[in-house]
Amino acid sequence: MGQIFELIADQALETLDSYYTECHICERENLDLYTYQGKYVMKNGEIDDDLYALCEECIKNKGVSHICDFQYIKTIEGYLESENLGENEKEILKQQLTDKYQKTPDIPIFLQYTDRPLCCKDITEFKGYPQDNPDLYQKTDSFIYWEKKTIASTPEAYNFKNTGPPESLREVATFHCKHCNKNYFTFQF
Ligand SMILES: [Zn+2]
Ligand SMILES: [Zn+2]
Repeated sequence: MGQIFELIADQALETLDSYYTECHICERENLDLYTYQGKYVMKNGEIDDDLYALCEECIKNKGVSHICDFQYIKTIEGYLESENLGENEKEILKQQLTDKYQKTPDIPIFLQYTDRPLCCKDITEFKGYPQDNPDLYQKTDSFIYWEKKTIASTPEAYNFKNTGPPESLREVATFHCKHCNKNYFTFQF
């Protein structure tokens, strides 16, 4: 479990480069900034929807939300729907998981839409990208493929050993469930 962000392993956590010098909410400088395309309600009641670089504190405490959050909230709902839960538990879990998601920066960068795998009534932790081709083959061979839900058999096109590696290894993101130790991967090109 990540020490800074629960859903991102520390070694997979990336800070923004020096082009970004201050947090878009608190405007403090000289602290680690993370990618977060989002919005929040300012003190005067207006909505600032032009956030990109935020510090840890603002991500966790300022009630920020992701720009296209409805997409992933739908994925959370779909997952909970498939879990055979009572209405009450479903609603509580939806709140908890949505809250966790809103307090997590956009890491990894999903090229198409946010799609963190869900497992054991929780959101899995991002563990990083494959290091090289052998690592890619090993992981995509043994990890569970996720695309808005668990896909029982990985599509043949994503059998990279046969089809060749994707253009960038960062198109593949790997995740781990801390409850049952299952590993997942996503692929967005
Ligand atoms: Zn800040
Ligand atoms: Zn699990």
